[in-house]
Amino acid sequence: MDKPPGMKKRKFIKTASTLVVGAAVSPIMACKAELKDARNAAKDSLKEAVTQGANFELPALLYSFDALAPNIDARTMEIHHGKHHAGYVRKFNAALDGSSMAGKSIEDILADIGPDDSGLRNNGGGHYNHSLFWSVMSPNGGGIPSGDLADAINGTFDSFDSFKEQFSKAAATRFGSGWAWLCQGGDGKLFVCSTPNQDNPMMANISEHQGMPLLGLDVWEHAYYLNYQNRRGDYIANFFNIIDWNAVAARMT
Ligand code: MN
Repeated sequence: MDKPPGMKKRKFIKTASTLVVGAAVSPIMACKAELKDARNAAKDSLKEAVTQGANFELPALLYSFDALAPNIDARTMEIHHGKHHAGYVRKFNAALDGSSMAGKSIEDILADIGPDDSGLRNNGGGHYNHSLFWSVMSPNGGGIPSGDLADAINGTFDSFDSFKEQFSKAAATRFGSGWAWLCQGGDGKLFVCSTPNQDNPMMANISEHQGMPLLGLDVWEHAYYLNYQNRRGDYIANFFNIIDWNAVAARMT
């Protein structure tokens, strides 16, 4: 496509598509075919949200700011999505401007960057991590996983409760700011880990843990402080009330 003269590259590349993350179908209501559709939609929407090449946009939430309350309050959601995540997107695009990474998918960028690429590392990670985070929560979430994901969790951790304990511990013991993850390694096996700041296990040259994140929990204070203050443990416990296990399962390969 030709670029109209005078139009800035970033504006030209910007697509008109509305980005959505997550699945909106309740697992209880969905029949098998609908469930498959929902999983595919979740997979496609997150992929679309995070693989836009040179110019990345803030993905819209599939639920209102107050939809996850009281587990996560509306004001926190509004600031977290509209200010924090939006800031990562803006700074990520600025860091990509003129970079050799411009035009690559975010997966390739995260896999290729080194520890010193701080603009791409912090803001590309911030964009990917938050896009994933919004997509694995739902007002219809909670409960326990089913199907292949349940089998994989039970096979790896012995039980869902044991997984929950390990994940919660990873989230609780992350010193300072960071994330807790449930990931799938290159061997297909699940594991729990935690990363500092906006790092994630897709950063092959940076993270000590390597894999595809299936579920992520933001434990930066900005994610919970307005409602929970210092009670990170309560925030972690309540996160389990809003996990969209269909969206998590859709990320498994
Ligand atoms: Mn955050």
